[in-house]
Amino acid sequence: MVFEKLDKRLILEGEIEALTALHVGSGKAEFEETVDLPVLKDPKGNPYVPGSSLKGRVRSEAERLARSMGYAVCEAPTVESMCGSKAKGEESLCIICKIFGTAGMKGGVSRASKVKFRDAHLVGGLENLLRRTGIALDRETGTVKPGALYSLEAVPAGSRFSLEIVAENLTDEELGLLKAALRSVEDSALGGQSSRGLGKVRIRVDRARVRTAEFYVGKASEEVVEPWK
Ligand SMILES: [Zn+2]
Repeated sequence: MVFEKLDKRLILEGEIEALTALHVGSGKAEFEETVDLPVLKDPKGNPYVPGSSLKGRVRSEAERLARSMGYAVCEAPTVESMCGSKAKGEESLCIICKIFGTAGMKGGVSRASKVKFRDAHLVGGLENLLRRTGIALDRETGTVKPGALYSLEAVPAGSRFSLEIVAENLTDEELGLLKAALRSVEDSALGGQSSRGLGKVRIRVDRARVRTAEFYVGKASEEVVEPWK
């Protein structure tokens, strides 16, 4: 694992709003659930979006954008085909691995993510969870599997979740790609069942602050910078 000094930490805060119903689940029902595909819930029983899910979505949008802009990008998430296993050193990592980190096979380069996504917790309460019924299709034949009705839980449109992203030492190029990826998630989807229209979200950054090492040792103030819409 390579560590680097802290030059600049950018703290972004805002909200994720569900514009349609949103299903972020674990993909399996816990034994006490009465629905086949429940949404993930925090210890208080409120639905939430894990930081790892957010990061995964933003990373995959960033990969698509980077490829279409002509960057060479490795094949995540298979460790063998990621930069960490193939790269000769820090500088040869692709832009995606530089931002989001890479795992390396033995003898490779491991690099922590420069961007951390906090779990997005429910803001302002929730009236009720939606429950929908779906039909499971056989992926190979496209036909309905016998007896394949399933129930799905989702949070209703209008639900809001806290957003906090902490990014360290990003170059302007990397920050630009992060912003673009967040916008691209808005125009694609978050969570499951997007083919049924679920998961359209608005990602809003309301506050952006920059903190340096000098800030933490009390020798400088944080800098409030212009957030973006
Ligand atoms: Zn890479």
